[in-house]
Amino acid sequence: MDSKKSDETKNRSLTDQLTRCACCPRKCQVNRLEGKTGFCGVGADVQVSHVGLHFGEEPPISGTKGSGTIFFSGCNLRCVFCQNHQISQEFKKGRTQTLTSNQLALEMLRLQDKGAHNINFVSPSHVIFQMAEAILLAREKGLSLPVVYNSGGYDSVDALRQIHGLVDIYLPDIKYLDNELGKRFSGVEDYADIVPGVLMEMLDQVGHLKTDEDGIAMGGLLVRHLVLPGCLDNSQKCLRFLAGLSSNIHVSLMSQYSPQYKACNYPEINRTLTAEEYDEIQNYALDLGLENAFVQELESYDHYLPDFERESPFTTDLSVPGVSAPGEGSKKGKRHKALV
Ligand code: SF4
Repeated sequence: MDSKKSDETKNRSLTDQLTRCACCPRKCQVNRLEGKTGFCGVGADVQVSHVGLHFGEEPPISGTKGSGTIFFSGCNLRCVFCQNHQISQEFKKGRTQTLTSNQLALEMLRLQDKGAHNINFVSPSHVIFQMAEAILLAREKGLSLPVVYNSGGYDSVDALRQIHGLVDIYLPDIKYLDNELGKRFSGVEDYADIVPGVLMEMLDQVGHLKTDEDGIAMGGLLVRHLVLPGCLDNSQKCLRFLAGLSSNIHVSLMSQYSPQYKACNYPEINRTLTAEEYDEIQNYALDLGLENAFVQELESYDHYLPDFERESPFTTDLSVPGVSAPGEGSKKGKRHKALV
């Protein structure tokens, strides 16, 4: 079978599976091709809330020219503190664009023309097969950039195996290794049971993070962990798991939590992280030998807060909005640094 035919076959078999959706571990089994929606609230066509160059990711992802972010609407988690809640959980109220796979492929090519270092799909778990279809189309049309899969970590291992070879850089979260926290804060019963297998599969597919001579990521795995106030046992458990996978694993230890959205209803997380808490977790990572870690400035929590009602959702030094708008990527978010 020639490669084009094999791509077409893969493409067709992937989207056919939307008839009984099990794209993510929720396994809603709804027929999205007939317009039904499950927990994520998204049908067969993808909905996109924002496309643009973004400078607030970790240095190997944003680089100097920006990461070509495509923010999908909807999510398969319901995090009470979600800083993207306008597009993840309330997207029907806001501005969102419905795109076919072909239109999504064209957006990727426009980001490439704008000089992006990569194509960065944000929250792709519930549209993984539509994303895959668009990547195949974009590659046919000349996309040569690395593709980043930037998820909350609640992914289907089976679906990830089916798109093997299409993603170059995995950028997942590990939010919890405690199902009680997952239930309380993200509306999910089994996050802690699912995420270890997901991270193992991702590492297996792409290996450790690899960068070019300028420090720009070309492939591999970078795992994010958002440190929640008062939940240091959970953070330590997550870090122990990551160190057990490999002490060479690349980790981004994020301090940017602030009590957004519904978090004010949860007194235990209705505050920002203290310097002592963040120091403790950084030292714990070092004690475990996790030296490939990025950390953030603690005061940076409000710097990253987006507002998707604006044309440019991020602060001006983090974002160049809309691929159709002029704007060059000469600015760089400088809020991340290496742990050692
Ligand atoms: S992708 Fe959406 S419809 Fe499909 S299983 Fe997950 S939550 Fe349900």
